[in-house]
Amino acid sequence: MSNYRRISDIQADIRSGKTNCVQLVKSYIARIEENKHLNAFLEVWAEEALEKAAVIDQKFKSGTPGHLAGAVIALKDNLAYKGHKVSAASNILQGFESVFTATAVQRLLDEDAIILGRTNCDEFAMGASNENSAFGPVRNAIDPERVPGGSSGGSAVAVQAHLVHASLGSDTGGSIRQPAAFCGLFGLKPTYGLISRWGLLAYASSFDQIGPLTHSLEDNILLTEIMAGPDEQDATVSDRPAPQYHANQSAGKYTFAVMRQAIEHPGLDANVKSETESLIKSLIDQGHTVTYFDFEYLDYLVPTYYVLTTAEASSNLSRYSGLLYGHRSQHAKDLESTFTLSRSEGFGEEVKRRIMLGTFVLSSDYYDAYYSKAQKVRRIIQNKTREVLSGADAILIPTTSTPAFKLGEKSKDPIAMYLADLFTVQANIAGNCAISIPVAKTATGLPLGMQLMCGDFEEQKLFDVSSEILRICNS
Ligand code: GLN
Repeated sequence: MSNYRRISDIQADIRSGKTNCVQLVKSYIARIEENKHLNAFLEVWAEEALEKAAVIDQKFKSGTPGHLAGAVIALKDNLAYKGHKVSAASNILQGFESVFTATAVQRLLDEDAIILGRTNCDEFAMGASNENSAFGPVRNAIDPERVPGGSSGGSAVAVQAHLVHASLGSDTGGSIRQPAAFCGLFGLKPTYGLISRWGLLAYASSFDQIGPLTHSLEDNILLTEIMAGPDEQDATVSDRPAPQYHANQSAGKYTFAVMRQAIEHPGLDANVKSETESLIKSLIDQGHTVTYFDFEYLDYLVPTYYVLTTAEASSNLSRYSGLLYGHRSQHAKDLESTFTLSRSEGFGEEVKRRIMLGTFVLSSDYYDAYYSKAQKVRRIIQNKTREVLSGADAILIPTTSTPAFKLGEKSKDPIAMYLADLFTVQANIAGNCAISIPVAKTATGLPLGMQLMCGDFEEQKLFDVSSEILRICNS
C-alpha cells in the first residue's frame, strides 16, 4: 500500500480501481500488527472496520461516497463512540462502553469515514509525553527510544507510522500540536467553540478542543470543516454556520508577529532556533512582513495554565467515584471507602497530583491567591494575544523548544514536563486557533514543528498562512 498523504489521492486510486477500502483496511490492520511495539492502539475494531469498508466500496460503485470515503481514522481514547469502549487510558474506566457518539466523531461517520480503533494517550489527556498512560508509553516511530509527545501520542504515531490515514486528538494545552511537531504531522487546535466537545471526556472544559492530526494540510482543513459548526449538545460552540475553508482559500502577503522572548529563550534547542531564523529570513525574502513583539507574560503562561486546568480537572473528574461507571474497588465496605479506594486504585499518579492541586487552589483559604488570580492573568494574556493579532495576521513561534525527547528524560520531574508546554498553552488560555506544521528535520531526522496562531475563528486565515509557509518550505 502506498503511504498516502491526502484523502483525495486515496479517493482517486479507489476510483481508478488501484485499491479499495477493504484492501486499505486490511493493510492498516497488518501494519498495526507489525508495529505493536509502538503501543499506539489500545483497541482495534478490525471486523467492524472491514464490514464498513465493504459498504463504502459499494458506495464508490454506486457513485454516492461521502467526503471522507476511503479515509481510515483512529480516535484518541477520550472520545465517545457508541457501543465502543473508552477509557481515557485510565484504569478507572475499565470496561466502560460509550452510550452515545461524540458529535465530532458522528460528523466523520456521516461522511463515510471508517473508524479503525482507539489510540493510547496520557491518562485523561494529562501529560506531554504519553508516559502517563495506564497502558504503557507510546513510542515515536522515527526513534522508538523517544517520546511521541502527548497527550495525543497514540493518535500521532498511528498517523506517523501509517497505521491509519488520520486521527483525532484533543488539545487542552498542546496535546495535538506538540505530538504533531514531534512526529512530523499537521495538528490543529481549533478556536475554542469551533468544534463541539460533546462526547469528549472532559479534562479542563474551558480549554479542551478536539482537532485532527494529518499528513497534509489539505486533510487537516477537510476534517476541520466537517467537524466544525453548531451543535445543540454543546452550548459553548459558536452558532456560526460551518465554514467552507477549502472553497475560500486565497494567497497573499502577510504580517507575522514573532515573540521575542520565545526565540531568545535560553531553553531553545539550537536546531529549533536556526530553523525559526531561516524561516523568518525566507518570509522576508518572499515579501512578507515580520515584526517582533515583547510578551512579558511568557513565564506566567505555564503557572496560569496549571492552576486553572487542575481546578477544572478536580471538578470534572469528581464524577469518577466508583458509583456510576468504571472501576469499583473490591475492598470497599461503605460509601466513603467506595470513593476513596476506587479512586486510589483507579487513577494514576499524575491524575491524582492534578486533582489534589486543583482541589487545593479551589479551597476557600487559597481560592483568591491562586484560582481567582489565575483567572485575572488569563484575561491579561487573552487581551495581549488579541492586541498582537490585531496588528498582525499570525503569531509565529516554534511549537516546542526541543525536538522529541527521550523516554524517561522528564518523567520523574513534573515541572520539567510542564515546561514542555511553554509555547502551546497560550492559545488554550486565550482561546484562539493554532496549528503546528512540520517544517524541517534535525540532522538525525527528528521532525521540527512551527506553530502559527491566528485570532478567534480565523481558521481560514490560519490555513491560508500555513499554505504559504509550506510553499516557502518546499521551494
Ligand atoms: N501537556 C499539557 C498537560 O499536561 C497539555 C495536555 C493537553 O493538551 N491535553 O496538561
